[in-house]
Amino acid sequence: MNYISTRNNHKNFTFKDVFLKGLADDGGLFVPQLIKPFKKEELGNLKNLSYNDLAAEIIYPFIGDFMSKNDLISLISKSYSNFRCDDVVKIIDLGNLKVLELFHGPTLAFKDIAMQLIGNFYQYHLERDQKKINIIVATSGDTGAAAIDALKGKNNLNVFVLHPSNKISPVQRKLMTIHEESNVFNIAVEGNFDDCQNLVKAMFNDEKFSKAINMSGVNSINWARIIAQAVYYFYAYFKIRNGQPLSFSVPTGNFGDIYAGYLAKKLGLPVDKLIVATNKNDILHRAISGGDYTQKKVEETNTPSMDIQMASNFERLLYDVKNCNSEITKDVMSKIKDNTYKIDKNDLDKIKKNFISEMLDEKETVEMIKQINDEYQIVVDPHTAVGIGAVKKLGLKKNCVVLSTAHPCKFPKAIEDAISKTENLPNSLNYVNDRKEKFDVLPNDLEKVKEYVMNSI
Ligand SMILES: *Cc1c(COP(=O)(O)O)cnc(C)c1O
Repeated sequence: MNYISTRNNHKNFTFKDVFLKGLADDGGLFVPQLIKPFKKEELGNLKNLSYNDLAAEIIYPFIGDFMSKNDLISLISKSYSNFRCDDVVKIIDLGNLKVLELFHGPTLAFKDIAMQLIGNFYQYHLERDQKKINIIVATSGDTGAAAIDALKGKNNLNVFVLHPSNKISPVQRKLMTIHEESNVFNIAVEGNFDDCQNLVKAMFNDEKFSKAINMSGVNSINWARIIAQAVYYFYAYFKIRNGQPLSFSVPTGNFGDIYAGYLAKKLGLPVDKLIVATNKNDILHRAISGGDYTQKKVEETNTPSMDIQMASNFERLLYDVKNCNSEITKDVMSKIKDNTYKIDKNDLDKIKKNFISEMLDEKETVEMIKQINDEYQIVVDPHTAVGIGAVKKLGLKKNCVVLSTAHPCKFPKAIEDAISKTENLPNSLNYVNDRKEKFDVLPNDLEKVKEYVMNSI
């Protein structure tokens, strides 16, 4: 499969380029030049597969030039062997709603599903090409833990994780900072998530620096993550299979997870609406409901993994909306950078064919956790509660699946506020509480962070 950048579709890249680079040199995001949907009979052949077999069928066409199908099958099985449920994910009923639990991996959030696979992709690549790489990633809390768990102790690579200091939950922090492997570096940046993301982008865009350290990235803009996440939309559809197209409600920050649902739809899966559920950092809700894509200041909430005002993956959607015109996309992105972009009516109508949106504030989120616990005796994490609340506020009654993105024990404060108790870590993770944490605090200063990286490798 050929890939191009959303800001220059005249130059072709292979999956290997796309995977290792993460972000294109022109600042754009990689997308396939052409996405071929599965034919009806091909979809029929997928419907009874196990999660792992389904993953191989969906992912292989995107990466065929990188490894053989047999190698992919064995990496998938290795990646998901340590998940706490048999088929990687689990679907539960909440009245008429289905909830797709994606948090049964080692760090208790959906991000493990893509990241465990990516970790093994790196290892596969580095066994063939001995050049040492340095992976730098910004996290709002969950990506970092998932990345470190997937990459710790692997040969020929270091992983640097930038998290916003004091703005993530203690459980989130511990899951990243308790590791003793010498290739793991945790940096607490005195700033918010967008600052962390900007630092990483600036390091990538500094060609001299990024070449010198052979920099690579696993943020949610990495295409490999998107394809790994598209798998569970298919899996849920085939498990639920009630003859109707399904809508998916997705607690959304960087627009990666929900974009994977959009990819599933482009691949031919009968998806009705993709519901963008946000907290009060609601740029995407304002954009999709009324075209207002201007950034406001990021506010801290009880759903920290969505405290984002720059949804990086949105660029991929805009590229489609602009009829795959990379010149126009580039223009739009520079308007977004100047914070002057409004989506015009024509484009918004196109977006609304596939997406709707809703927002929950912190109070509504806590109330939703309580209501679900009262009604069903199920404790959901606050991000998942935002996803469920969005469906309720939109008044959707059937054929909806909510993506449950994290285990409730990761966000004890919100759970405590809602139901005056907290959820325990799964037994297999109890050790986390006794380990010593290791991280360095740095100012929100590009030169200081670069210096730290240089001195560490
Ligand atoms: C990362 C994350 C999200 C947001 O996902 P995006 O792909 O950034 O939109 C939502 N919930 C949880 C728990 C997360 O960790």
